[in-house]
Amino acid sequence: MDYDFLIVGSGISGCTIAEQLASKSQKILIIDKRNHIGGNLYDEYDQNNVLIHKYGPHIFHTNSKIVFDYLSKFTEWIKYEHKVVAFVDNKYVPIPINRNTLNLIFNLNLKTDEEATQYLNKIKEDKIIKNSRDVVISKVGNELYKKLFEGYTKKQWGISPENLLPEITKRIPVRINTDDRYFTDIYQYMPKNGYTAMIKKMLSNENITTLINTDFKDLDKKIHYKNLIYTGPIDYFFDYKYGKLQYRSIIFEFERYNKSHYQDYAVVNYPDEKVKYTRITEFKYLTGQNIDKTTIVKEYPTNIGEEYYPILTEANIDLYKKYKLEADKLPNTTFIGRLAEFKYYNIDQAVASALLLSKKIIKEFD
Ligand code: FAD
Ligand code: UDP
Repeated sequence: MDYDFLIVGSGISGCTIAEQLASKSQKILIIDKRNHIGGNLYDEYDQNNVLIHKYGPHIFHTNSKIVFDYLSKFTEWIKYEHKVVAFVDNKYVPIPINRNTLNLIFNLNLKTDEEATQYLNKIKEDKIIKNSRDVVISKVGNELYKKLFEGYTKKQWGISPENLLPEITKRIPVRINTDDRYFTDIYQYMPKNGYTAMIKKMLSNENITTLINTDFKDLDKKIHYKNLIYTGPIDYFFDYKYGKLQYRSIIFEFERYNKSHYQDYAVVNYPDEKVKYTRITEFKYLTGQNIDKTTIVKEYPTNIGEEYYPILTEANIDLYKKYKLEADKLPNTTFIGRLAEFKYYNIDQAVASALLLSKKIIKEFD
């Protein structure tokens, strides 16, 4: 069998490239070692008829019109603005920290943005930002860091925030107003029929052949391809010759209930280290389903299992660079996506990067 491109991994990165190249008459084989397409975006209806995200809650948000318009070719959307609270001191407080968070935690009555700014100026500490702890303390001080970030981050990453690069906690802003949305992006939507349906459509071009339950290293030798796009872990590709990169995994424990709701919020974060999970998500809030039953998921981070989150430490970045040097030497081979580039990409960033790469490839053969 002959293909123009073999794409390893049917996550959003691989599927975007497959779709783009197939639309230019390239013959594509896309494979995945899992028993389904979609990568970490995969969703399915469970026995409660709730649309669940198998790999944890995935909320689409972007400021990129290009990305939004592109994905809109494959799905309709429902409007959804994500909200998260943290359970701390027996209260539910908005995350990211905003004026209401300050009022609830410190029993204050800050009424204006100016008052919130003044208060933050009092509690924050001057810091040279070297790590994920410095980021938080420099914005909100030690007490809020301890209450909301330290325990959560230790659980999520298995190491202290001092050992993580700043970009991890930089993802979470601090607000002086009362905007309690998790994201402020222009486009905040969920795919109307789910991510899997969207991805199926992306792969529907007849130039695309899809093969699941197939690891790259076990691919039939009779299959020939001119170019390789690889979206799996880069260290695995090179047989860990320089050592293993660290990725964080998660055990997802789903619980099903015969009642309409389990909690009052889409996501509740648990920063307390004594609680072993990081957060509880109730899917119905995300999908807008109006049914009698409900399903939640608790997330237990772990080092063992499939690779989900690249752990961004200096040592890992140095190791990644060694692999990247090797990768750059390989002809007709491109590494892209969260695992292959060892980057903390969101969905929209993965799509944007895949669209750019496709454009570059298409330019070469057009
Ligand atoms: P992946 O989705 O990881 O796809 C890679 C695919 O390659 C996988 O299907 C894997 O099985 C396959 N593969 C790997 N190795 C091999 C091999 N050797 N052979 C064959 N196949 C292989 N982003 C957001 O924008 N919003 C969110 O709310 C959000 N929530 C998240 C929650 C969690 C718990 C996680 C882990 C991520 C979240 N993300 C979120 C990030 C989002 O999942 C990623 O940006 C996106 O999935 C990246 O797509 P990808 O194709 O690069 O990688
Ligand atoms: N974080 C935290 N407490 C919270 C929310 C986030 O300590 O209540 C930290 C934690 O280290 C997390 C990082 O901020 O990994 C980024 O959070 P985000 O919600 O962006 O992570 P995601 O779950 O989307 O990967």
